[in-house]
Amino acid sequence: MFLLKLSRAYKTTPTNSLNILLGIPSLHLVTKSLFIRFNIWKLRSDKFRELIDPIFLDFYRDINSISSNRKIIICEDFTDYDYEVYTDGSRIGDNVGFSVCFFERNSLLPVFCYKMISFNSVFQAELAAINFAAGWALERNVKIKVFSDSKSSIEAIRSPKVKSNFVLSVKDNLYNAKDLVSLVWVKAHAGNPGNELADHFAKIASSCGADMSIPAPYSYVKRICKEFLMNEWNSYWKNSTTGKRTKEILPSANLDLLISNKYVIYLFTNHGPFPAYLCRFKILNNPDCLCGEHGDADHYLTSCMYNKDYHLLLPTGASRTHWTRKLCKNYLFLNRLKSIFEISRKICDDLQRL
Ligand SMILES: [Zn+2]
Repeated sequence: MFLLKLSRAYKTTPTNSLNILLGIPSLHLVTKSLFIRFNIWKLRSDKFRELIDPIFLDFYRDINSISSNRKIIICEDFTDYDYEVYTDGSRIGDNVGFSVCFFERNSLLPVFCYKMISFNSVFQAELAAINFAAGWALERNVKIKVFSDSKSSIEAIRSPKVKSNFVLSVKDNLYNAKDLVSLVWVKAHAGNPGNELADHFAKIASSCGADMSIPAPYSYVKRICKEFLMNEWNSYWKNSTTGKRTKEILPSANLDLLISNKYVIYLFTNHGPFPAYLCRFKILNNPDCLCGEHGDADHYLTSCMYNKDYHLLLPTGASRTHWTRKLCKNYLFLNRLKSIFEISRKICDDLQRL
C-alpha cells in the first residue's frame, strides 16, 4: 500500500515492478538482510560463514566502564620533538595499506609499509598508521609529531562515543604514549612534501607492504549484508513472472532509482490510461485506440495519430535501460510524457462513453 501511495500508480501494478521503479527492495528481503546482519555482528553466529566468519570481526566494547581520559585522547601540540612523522592510508580496488614516514632532522628514515586485508577500511588504515607511529615512539622513548590528513581518525581519537574495540585499543596506546606523541591534521593533496611522500608509499603499501592483520569493521558487515540483499533482490526480480515490461527496460535492481513520477510508471509498467490496459482489467471491451491501432503505452509514445506532436523515438535493447534512466531526470521529457498520457486518458474517457 505504501508503495502505491508513494508512486500513485494504478492499483494493479505488480508490487515487484514498483519495488524496482522506486528503488525500494521488498520488505521480506530487507528483513532477511537485517536478520543476517544481527546474527553476524551481535550474535557472532557462524551460520553465514559464506559471507564472513565472525572470528575475523572487530567488536563493540561497553564504553561506560572506560574512564573519560582514556576515551578522549588529546595529543598536545608540542614543538620540542625528535622526529617528524607522516602517516597515510590508502585503498586501490581491493588493496588497503598504510605507510609511516619518519624524518630525523629533515632526513627520511626507512619507510614502514603495511598491507591490510581487503575487508579493512581506509579509516582503519589511517588509524593503524598513527598507532604504529605511537608504538614506535613509546618503544624508543622519543618525542614525535605526527601529521595525518585523516580528519575522521583524529575525530575518532577525540570522540568519547566510539565503541569499536580496534579504535579503543589505538586510544589505549596513544594514552600510554601521550607525553611522546603530538598529533596534527594536515590537508591532503595540498603540496605538503611529507604528506605527498606518505601518500605515495601508502599506495605502494596497499599492494606490496608487509602483512598487518586487523579485524573487519562493522561497516564491512553492513556492506556485505547490502550486497546480499541486492543479490537476493536481483534473483527474485529475474525469476518473477510478473512485471515483464518493467523487466525489459530495467533488468536489474538499483537502490538509487526512485522513479516516483506516475507517468514514468505508466510507461514502464504499461499499467495506465491505455485502452489495452483497461480492456485487460475489463473496464473497456476493446483494447484498441480510437485510431484503430492496439492502444498500449508504446502506441501513444510513437504512433498514435492523435498526439503526433509529442511522439518519441524509442531505443531498443540494452541502450533502452540507459536511455530511460537518463530521461527520468529530464523535466522536458517528463512534461512530454505527461502530455502524451493526458491525451491517452481523454481517449480512454471517450472510449468509455461510446
Ligand atoms: Zn491511437
